[in-house]
Amino acid sequence: DSGEIKILLLENVNQRGISLLEKEGYQVESIKKALPEDVLIEKIRDVHAIGIRSKTKLTKKVIQEAKKLLVIGCFCIGTNQVDLEAAANRGIAVFNSPFSNSRSVAELIIAEIISLSRQLGDRNIELHQGNWNKVSSQCYEIRGKTLGIVGYGHIGSQLSVLAEAMGMTVFFHDIIQLMPMGTAKQVNTLYELLERSDFVSLHVPETEETKNMIGEEEIARMKKGSYLINASRGTIVQIPPLIKALQNGHLLGAAIDVFPKEPASNGQFYNNELNSWTSDLLACKNVILTPHIGWLFLFSIIISDNYLFTKLFFNLKGGSTEEAQYMIGAEVGAAIIKYINCGTSIGAVNFPEIDLRAIQDTDKTIRLLFCHYNVPGVLREINEILSDHNVDKQYSDSRGNIAYMMADISNVDDQDIRKIYETVSSNRANISTRIVY
Ligand code: NAD
Repeated sequence: DSGEIKILLLENVNQRGISLLEKEGYQVESIKKALPEDVLIEKIRDVHAIGIRSKTKLTKKVIQEAKKLLVIGCFCIGTNQVDLEAAANRGIAVFNSPFSNSRSVAELIIAEIISLSRQLGDRNIELHQGNWNKVSSQCYEIRGKTLGIVGYGHIGSQLSVLAEAMGMTVFFHDIIQLMPMGTAKQVNTLYELLERSDFVSLHVPETEETKNMIGEEEIARMKKGSYLINASRGTIVQIPPLIKALQNGHLLGAAIDVFPKEPASNGQFYNNELNSWTSDLLACKNVILTPHIGWLFLFSIIISDNYLFTKLFFNLKGGSTEEAQYMIGAEVGAAIIKYINCGTSIGAVNFPEIDLRAIQDTDKTIRLLFCHYNVPGVLREINEILSDHNVDKQYSDSRGNIAYMMADISNVDDQDIRKIYETVSSNRANISTRIVY
């Protein structure tokens, strides 16, 4: 009964998430702040789901106290604040919102393309220093220029749409064949993309193939007078050859939001032990440097952040966009509901990801959700229990030592349900057993 499900939301989760969960009929308590550990332990004992952002630490100690907990929703991008293994070992699925900031990053890139093209960063720094320097040499409109996008996923494809709306021609390169947005065109090789583009923007994940993907050879392939933008991961671009190309004028500018080594907290960036080339990079003209804020976009603070950054400090103020918070509320709220109501674990970060088509209310069908240790012979034992019944659909998967099985069983009465639950939940490998209908 959804009315018995208790949800605790901490750290001012967006109203969109709260409304979704309330609409489901759950008992939702939303608290604006994070809780001290002792209060958190007290409260978590009683709830079936908890929603947090980055400040709440769900350690093994806290998770062990969460006797009724089914699911953790991280209403943010990261999940470092949760002991994911401890949660999986208790059969608790953890969800987050990895793509809710795609639009914020894409908008940042558009702002950077214009800023680089017009040398806005440099003019801003000069005037802050009291220097009136009105120039138009090597300042261009972006209309009619070519943008090359490397990695056409959530961010790359959003960027493609925005860039075309600004009058740019878009090419992209991806390891998989993808449906282009608008009139964008996929090219076969990275080199082809580099040779054709006035602006190159990187949107690939960090993998063995993408580490150091853009080095001396790749930069040399870029058009003379072009620009490089990296807001993906710090290890994708080799900074020393980039500095060389900026110094010798092969590139007219660059925007870098992510670095091979980033400071652990806000404060001094100018630390040669962290990155030996820092002072050379800071001295380059028309380079926009931002402290990994792709997802925090507010255009009005970019230029001032750039200014402060070049003063050798990180200044990470502001917050993620309202729109991104709304998207996070909707995405994580929906994942919690689907997991509680249907057992769907697609998108979980610590758990095998499985799903089946929703069961119909009418045909006396139940769904068995069995989270268990991944040991040989367990599925045979469970299927023996189910062999007297009509299993309509069944799906199972494992991740490390945790396995998860979902089975839809039709034409069962209350007595069958009780028996199935009792026998499955007493299996030797059981972590958690649920039946939903
Ligand atoms: P995504 O997974 O949706 O898309 C990545 C795309 O890259 C996929 O289409 C994939 O096929 C492609 N790809 C993978 N390897 C490739 C290769 N070797 N060559 C060409 N294409 C390749 O990811 P996304 O959400 O668009 O994020 C892209 C990047 O942006 C990630 O590295 C992510 O960590 C980073 N990111 C940064 C910020 C920030 O604040 N700066 C915010 C969000 C995401």
